[in-house]
Amino acid sequence: MVMQTLHIGIDDTDSPNRGCTTYVAALLAERLRGIGATFIDYPNLIRLNPNVPWKTRGNGAVCLRIMCEEDTITEIKEVAIDTVEENSDMGYEGTDPGIVFLAEKEIPEEIENFSAKAITGILNLKEAFKIIKKFRVEAVGFKKARGIIGALAAVGETLKEDHTFELIAYRKPENYGQRRRIDLNSVMEMDRATFPETFNNVDPETGRILITPRGPDPILFGVRGETPEIVKKAFQMIRNLEPIERWIIFRTNHGTDAHLKRIESLSQIKPYNPVIATGKVASKPMVIPRRHVIFTIKDGSAEVHCAAYEPTGDLRKVAAKLIEGDIVEVYGGVRPPSNGRPITINLEKLRVLRLAPLIVYQNPPCPTCGRRLKTMGKNKGFRCEKCGSKHPNLSKVAIELKRDLSEGLYITSPRSQRHLTKPLTRYGREKKNFTVELIPNWCHP
Ligand code: ATP
Repeated sequence: MVMQTLHIGIDDTDSPNRGCTTYVAALLAERLRGIGATFIDYPNLIRLNPNVPWKTRGNGAVCLRIMCEEDTITEIKEVAIDTVEENSDMGYEGTDPGIVFLAEKEIPEEIENFSAKAITGILNLKEAFKIIKKFRVEAVGFKKARGIIGALAAVGETLKEDHTFELIAYRKPENYGQRRRIDLNSVMEMDRATFPETFNNVDPETGRILITPRGPDPILFGVRGETPEIVKKAFQMIRNLEPIERWIIFRTNHGTDAHLKRIESLSQIKPYNPVIATGKVASKPMVIPRRHVIFTIKDGSAEVHCAAYEPTGDLRKVAAKLIEGDIVEVYGGVRPPSNGRPITINLEKLRVLRLAPLIVYQNPPCPTCGRRLKTMGKNKGFRCEKCGSKHPNLSKVAIELKRDLSEGLYITSPRSQRHLTKPLTRYGREKKNFTVELIPNWCHP
């Protein structure tokens, strides 16, 4: 009996109207287990660049990594292709499903590099096909086949370093589109009992529950955490008030900041590429309609707009307190110029590295009686209202005020964090040198 490793990447199966690529992965995982495949990892849910303009929602792709008997490979591929075909929204114009099969134990470095670029930048199908031809990769695409990019990228991201887990529970089809029914108190209890091993269950600013999505997709809720055990425990604590059809645990790059790539100078920013950049605040923050805050930063190479939008919550308030001369590190996606607005970094995080002194100029005190002097007009000196003395040669004095802001890291509120944004609670919990061990029950029986 010859055993074979097979990586199956899938992407672009859903539309804003229905479906979810994670659901296709959950169905396929059950079917593959049913025909004797052994999983060598949790299904991987890989979030790719959150700033690609053609994503449906969170730009997620999946990869199932299995061992199987060599003579079952053809059947397994057929089951995978059928599962994708049956469960994709083929009628929707922008849905272009892709499936990729790689029958290798080790992932070639070029495919890993392709994945890194798919998470931090923009790729095209030609680049994907170049790699597919070079290695023993098989790809199946439907319609325009754009999903092959994400499917190949999911295969190449093996989450060797930092990663997290998400348990996703799915609804029964008859409930799709209706309000999601779970006991909110049980979510609060779960949050208290598992924090900080689970994260982003609740938005602390608004009290809003974040584990339930809002659209017509099949997800009832998803709980994110550091280990498979903790997301399983959290799942068991949540009381669902509508039936759960199935559930599964994914290993993911959620909450790892994998999308953010440091650039050396501001002139290197490119539309749709998420960045980390350092600069000096060059203009006073402006609050524009809808309470968004805009300011600019500069270095020796360029000056760039940064925006903290209203839903970023506390981050917006922090941005509004910046002054010219502050040194900051900004983290976020780059929006191309549009409607007369220049290229802009949409902030996810802001690190205040050094606060500039806040100087105000005041009238000097009276040298005779100490009372603060009144001005006699521009360049005409000062006079004292109390003792009547005049001081034509005195000038204003500089006073340093205390800043209402501290140096440190500020992150957009959990309700507006991207899937990939590392929340504050994960700092210091980053994983290294991980070896996969599957817990006995990691998916619906
Ligand atoms: P989900 O809803 O599952 O979270 P999504 O639906 O938002 O994800 P998709 O429907 O998968 O996103 O659409 C994204 C499309 O963009 C896919 O076809 C994918 O192959 C492609 N894609 C993803 N990342 C990149 C990238 N960095 N460069 C080019 N194309 C990409």
